[in-house]
Amino acid sequence: MNYWQEEIETLPHEQLRNYQLKKLRETVSRAGLSPFYRELFRRHGLQADSLGSIEDIRKFPFTCKNDLREQYPFGLLTVSTDETIRMHCTSGTTGNPVAVLHSRKDLHSWANLVARSLFAAGTRHTDIFQNSSGYGLFTGGLGFQNGAEMLGCLAIPAGAGNSRRQIKIMQDFGTTCLHAVPSYLGRLHSVFAELGLDPIRDTRLKRLFIGAEPHSEETRQRIQNLYGCKAFNSFGMTEMNGPGVAFECEYQNGMHLWEDCYLVEIVHPETLEPVPDGEVGELVLTTLDREAMPIIRYRTRDLTRILPGTCPCGRSSCRIDRITGRSDDMFIIKGCNVFPIQIERILMRINEIGSDYLIVLDSNEEGDFMMIQAELKSDSFSDEFKKLEGLRKKIASEVRDEVQVTPVVQLVAPDSLPKTDGKAVRVKDLRKN
Ligand code: ADP
Ligand code: ZN
Repeated sequence: MNYWQEEIETLPHEQLRNYQLKKLRETVSRAGLSPFYRELFRRHGLQADSLGSIEDIRKFPFTCKNDLREQYPFGLLTVSTDETIRMHCTSGTTGNPVAVLHSRKDLHSWANLVARSLFAAGTRHTDIFQNSSGYGLFTGGLGFQNGAEMLGCLAIPAGAGNSRRQIKIMQDFGTTCLHAVPSYLGRLHSVFAELGLDPIRDTRLKRLFIGAEPHSEETRQRIQNLYGCKAFNSFGMTEMNGPGVAFECEYQNGMHLWEDCYLVEIVHPETLEPVPDGEVGELVLTTLDREAMPIIRYRTRDLTRILPGTCPCGRSSCRIDRITGRSDDMFIIKGCNVFPIQIERILMRINEIGSDYLIVLDSNEEGDFMMIQAELKSDSFSDEFKKLEGLRKKIASEVRDEVQVTPVVQLVAPDSLPKTDGKAVRVKDLRKN
């Protein structure tokens, strides 16, 4: 089965823009059927006819996570619930979650995007695709499942955790493709080692798909070395379906954002004005192919930039850079702005450090401080004190050079930091206020 939808995936720039404009007008008309957008458009005097060109999208107000929370559960629906067949939602640890309802057509379109993404990264119907995402409300489970099935792979819903069972399934069924959050792959590798196994020697893995949480190029390189195969970056979010929004192709040179289904803007996170081409800003997305719950100008909070140039694969969709973090991930310590990924990059370049780390922000009588706890690899754990002391100093000085704050560095035992089944927690803020 071929999932190279050449006509749409290679649409020349101008035609792609015309196609987007047509889809955008349809989306705005449809969105106006929902109670939320009907009222919003009325207040701003907007309608589909307000769109003479793609750029006219800027006349429309942004939609924020809070709007979606306030409209929970049905405020953005354009159809009756009878016409929806699936609901996914975010964890909603604070207040209402964000719930997204899908019609049959929506689910088909989403699975198609995931199938297309997997194909672009070299996956074929002959592959055996194992998914270690949590299933249930989290979109990484069913999202990848449906996409891999649509492509025609044997898709194994292994679910999250239970590493020994993951490995057994991988071996028994000859898994060739594995989807996992990047922070899990380090842990999974230690379970391989406990069992006396090596994924390079003892599995048929050819391709990994990693995403759902920010990670650095250094982390990707490590994962590729541990597993002896390519790891492709995959980006998505529940509000925009889930996985399949942007995905790396075989060239691994940024993630193709499927512009036939999403309109992309990059704006300055404070002024909200468009940033010049190629500059980092907040990603704003408009759905162009959603029926039950279209979303206009959604502020994702994710920071990225559009990469210049074209991709040798021939796909004409723009490519976005690795997400450097969310604007709300940034923390301020001693007046300096820090993104966890800046620290991760330093740690992952150091051979003795394992894959897990935690940044703890705390205060004592002298004021606030930042502590970095980094797991050592098992063979470095027994290194002599002097060597580890040198390592601590090296990390502290590299972090100071990068973020202008000198951290307290603690090197801890392998597998000693707290683990989750889903996305890794990288920052713990214990400061008062
Ligand atoms: P998903 O189920 O796709 O992970 P969520 O709605 O739980 O969706 O989370 C989406 C958020 O996860 C994004 O807004 C982004 O902050 C983060 N994310 C998803 N994929 C990536 C990725 N490849 N790189 C960095 N961050 C990512
Ligand atoms: Zn490409």
